[in-house]
Parts: sequence; C-alpha cells; structure tokens
Amino acid sequence: MRVYNFCAGPAALPQAVLTEAQRELLSWQGKGMSVMEMSHRGLDFMAIATQAEQDLRDLLHIPENYRVLFLQGGASLQFAQIPMNLLRGKKKADYVLTGMWSAKAATEARRFAEVHVAASDEVYGYRTVPAFDTWELDTQAAYLHYTPNETIHGVEFNYIPEVSVPLVADFSSSLLSEPLDVSRFGLIYAGAQKNIGPAGLVLVIVREDLLGEVVPGTPTMMDYRVAAEQGSMYNTPPTFSWYLAGLVFRWLKHQGGLSAMAAINQRKAEALYGCIDASGGFYQNPVSKTYRSRMNVPFTLMDTSLEKVFLKDAEQQGLVNLAGHRSVGGMRASIYNAVSSEAVNALVGFMRDFQQRMG
Ligand SMILES: *Cc1c(COP(=O)(O)O)cnc(C)c1O
Repeated sequence: MRVYNFCAGPAALPQAVLTEAQRELLSWQGKGMSVMEMSHRGLDFMAIATQAEQDLRDLLHIPENYRVLFLQGGASLQFAQIPMNLLRGKKKADYVLTGMWSAKAATEARRFAEVHVAASDEVYGYRTVPAFDTWELDTQAAYLHYTPNETIHGVEFNYIPEVSVPLVADFSSSLLSEPLDVSRFGLIYAGAQKNIGPAGLVLVIVREDLLGEVVPGTPTMMDYRVAAEQGSMYNTPPTFSWYLAGLVFRWLKHQGGLSAMAAINQRKAEALYGCIDASGGFYQNPVSKTYRSRMNVPFTLMDTSLEKVFLKDAEQQGLVNLAGHRSVGGMRASIYNAVSSEAVNALVGFMRDFQQRMG
C-alpha cells in the first residue's frame, strides 16, 4: 500500500510515472534492456533525452534563446557554478535572503564574488519577503540571485522582481507548480528531487548570451557553455533520473499543463492553510499571509509537547514525513505536484480530528 508522503525531498512522485517506469524497467520499449543499462550516446537514450527537453520546453514555453541543461551536483553545486559562470569579469553579485537556501547560496558565492545583500529577512527569522521598494540594488552587480520558494521556511514570492541585471532564481521547490515567464530570467535552476524527478539531476535554464566567460580556473565540468555545446553529455549524465524527469513532464502535459497544476496546487494550499487558520491557534503558521508558500507548509502546535504524538498518530494513518526541517522544528507538509488533493484532504481531516481529540 502507498502512503501519503509529505516529504520535502526527495519527494513523492506521481504513481502513474512510477508504474510506467516499473513496466519499462527490465525492457524499455521492447529493447531488452533497462534505460539504466543503455549507452547515453545511443539513439534510444538520445531520443529519451531530446523528448524530455522538448516536453519541458513545451510546458514552460521556454524561448529559443535559452539553453536547457541537465546537470549533476544538485542545487547546492549551482550555488558555486552560478558565480563561476555569471560574474563575467565583474566582482559583485546581489543576493536576496528570505530563508536558509538563499542564505546558503550567498555564503557559497562569497568564495568567488563580493556578495552584496540587497535585502534580507534574517533578523526576523525569515517570515516574509522584504518589501521590494526597500531593496538596495547594486547596479554594478553581475546578477541578482533570489529563491522564489524557500523550502524550509515556507516563504514564497508572489511576483517576479524587476531588476536591471540578469535575474537568477533557485526554483528547486516550485518549478512546474505554475506557469512561469522564463524570459524574465537570466538563469533558472532546480534540483529535481522536489517537484521534477529523482535526486541526482539538476535543471538549469540559462539565457544563451550569458554563457562563455567563466572565472579563470573553472573546471571544464562546471562551464555551462561546455554543457550546452555537448547536450549536457560532456560526461555521462544521470540517465535514469533524466528519463524519469521526462516521464514526469509527460504526466504534467496529460494533467493539462502548468495552468491546470496551478489551480490544483492553489486549492490544496488553501485547504491546508484554511485548516491551520481556523484552528484558533491550535496550529500556527509563522509566515506573513501574502508570502505563504503553496508548496511547503510549515506549522507548529500551540502545545509543542503534542508534536511527537501528532507525528506518530499521523504516521499510523498513512500520513508520513510531516516533521519540520531539523533547523526549525515543528511540522512541515510539502504538497508538490505529485501530492494529490486526496492526500491533502486526508491530512486536513486528520488535523481536525487530532485537534478535537487533544484540544
Ligand atoms: C532542496 C533545495 C536545495 C538543495 O538541493 P540539493 O539538490 O540537495 O543540493 C537548494 N535550494 C532549494 C530551494 C531547495 O529546496
């Protein structure tokens, strides 16, 4: 039996995708071998890779002048790879800090760049997005980096910042959850294991004119231009993760694309926040309402001594991975694309029942 999995990552995958992968596991399309056993340079895998990129381009309407890279090292390696590639002779980069992930990205960038913090909510514990008119933008910055959805703190932008330098965004936990105007960005990246596919793969969508001028000493593997020229196959790519991401893209198309997903995700988030807000303080979410994440919903119990019981009871009902990140504690429900309305409704039902029994 499958459980309702609210893990922040690696996260739930659509059951239809897993079933298809299972059906094709031993013999992909009658070829007598698994995708895992194929040459990445053979025609079969090339077809899988090309189709995956095309489906992603269709879903996000990615303009022609953007390259899609299927890389490794997770979002965390991008924290370094971005300054290595995007400083382009400049020294400074702007960072906006709205949670642990953007703070980590800034810390890593300091190895290569003078990081200028354009805005930060750190002193208030990452509960909101600082008002845009208070941002101190550096016109000499090579780019501005921000994290549209903070997976741990549950803070999400509801707009795309308008800046004069290339905009760089860590979309690890919200890419493909709603339509996105890619043309507003210089670079978008996302680790796969939240909303895209299995771990081991990170997607980079980068505007072509930003490629080609890396920091001296940059390893070949870290040069976006090399990856772009080699079709993300300078070395052996994570073939199975790429294939599975491709199945997820196709599944998203069958669901009606990103507008359809956005509507479902909106309803799921409203149901869960609605339950928290209607609990009279029994459950609490610390984030300012305007910037609450649709993907990651952290919450605490008024009586923290009930947390262990909450998690244990939830697990007994097949609702798993609801503990908050170790750095912030409390609870967190991650409700990505693959977490169904049925799963969220089951969680809301459990939370109401739990409050009735304990409140
Ligand atoms: C999970 C996550 C990361 C780190 O991803 P890794 O693939 O483990 O490196 C970075 N940024 C955000 C927003 C995340 O959610």
